[in-house]
Amino acid sequence: MLTVSEALAAILERLEPLPVVSLPLRESLGRVLATPAVCDLDSPPFDKSLMDGYAVRAADVVPGEARLEVVEEVMAGQVASRSVEAGQAIRIMTGAPIPAGADAVVPVEQSDCTGNFVTFRTPIPPGRNIMVRGKSMRAGQTILPAGRWIRPQEVGSLAELGLAEVPVHRPPTVAVLSTGDELVEVGERPGPGQIRNSNESMLLAQITRTGGIPVSLGIARDTLAELRPRIAAGLEQDMLLLSGGVSAGKLDLVPGVLESLRVRQVFHKVQLKPGQPLWFGVYDRPVSEEGLREKKTGSSAGEPPASGGRCYVFGLPGNPVSSMVCFELFARTAVRRLMGVTPAEIPGLRARLKQAHDCRGNRPTYHPAHVELTDEGAVVEPVLWQGSADLSGTVEANALVLFPEGDRTYTAGEWLTAYLW
Ligand code: AMP
Ligand code: MG
Repeated sequence: MLTVSEALAAILERLEPLPVVSLPLRESLGRVLATPAVCDLDSPPFDKSLMDGYAVRAADVVPGEARLEVVEEVMAGQVASRSVEAGQAIRIMTGAPIPAGADAVVPVEQSDCTGNFVTFRTPIPPGRNIMVRGKSMRAGQTILPAGRWIRPQEVGSLAELGLAEVPVHRPPTVAVLSTGDELVEVGERPGPGQIRNSNESMLLAQITRTGGIPVSLGIARDTLAELRPRIAAGLEQDMLLLSGGVSAGKLDLVPGVLESLRVRQVFHKVQLKPGQPLWFGVYDRPVSEEGLREKKTGSSAGEPPASGGRCYVFGLPGNPVSSMVCFELFARTAVRRLMGVTPAEIPGLRARLKQAHDCRGNRPTYHPAHVELTDEGAVVEPVLWQGSADLSGTVEANALVLFPEGDRTYTAGEWLTAYLW
């Protein structure tokens, strides 16, 4: 049985970012930059005033004595028509270019103006209140690396760099199919032996939050006749998540059906709790007839061979917390890799245990937990949790905390690794 890190490595080595598409800047939020964003102009493009005031020669500013003649006014967007000579000042607004000859800006609040003359209350050192050309960014400098998740601050930087169109990786479409004879729709009242299909809505939400495009496939009953066509439909997407049917029960038919549909198993079962029955495989779609025709007539000469594309398949154990944890640890990492996020791995956070905690198990346990940032750094507290079928505990959690395998009492203050979710 693979360890968590072996399973992650087995997933990541089979995935690469999806092709690059160009998106209008305003639609790029939440996508991932595919090529580095490079500065085309110095920023600011000229020495600029950071204050409303007077552009002066600093040496001329002698409080209570000097009286400088105001020879011009320059607003943001304008350029002064003359330079500042000894004994002169130019009235300047925030964002306007510094006139030649001036080497400081005295804020209007530190000056007194009568008619065309200005006096000053304090001296000013050279360079004060001037942002020199290229101080923020230099032409040719890489501002954002490829693989950067685009947040509002990246949108602002991309706008400043003049990228009206942004190269991003196409996000994956991720289908969800819930399997189980016992499942009813969320809006229904379960009859004897039945439960509501909570996994589908939860997984669709996890996909959306990660940046993938969710595709709902509903519920499939535990029969070969129903599973086969429904799973086959899901293989048309970039990823397929199956919930349930991958354990050792009599009606856990999913691995067999996947095999019969030529999905190549990469692993089945991982050493972790919850989520041990996790299944992962890869499906290469056969080349379509159209693709084959193109290949024969050579219409795609010079291009790579026609491919029907790929689907990455996760069989998630049906217990809701197992499904949730397996998504967070494995499927989310896969979505991130397909989207081009660098690094794709979910970073762990070191946190101290808030109070003593007993953990027993022959596998590493990813326990729902609450991480709090305190004056003394991150502190983690496992939430009350009744195991993989208990979803209610997870709403108090904002992380998973990892307890290594083995029976042990962890003491307050011990350092552990947590994964925020
Ligand atoms: P399975 O992995 O199919 O053996 O299911 C394990 C447990 O998870 C069983 O108690 C199922 O009833 C439950 N379960 C399976 N699918 C879902 C689902 N979609 N929503 C909520 N619980 C589920
Ligand atoms: Mg089942």
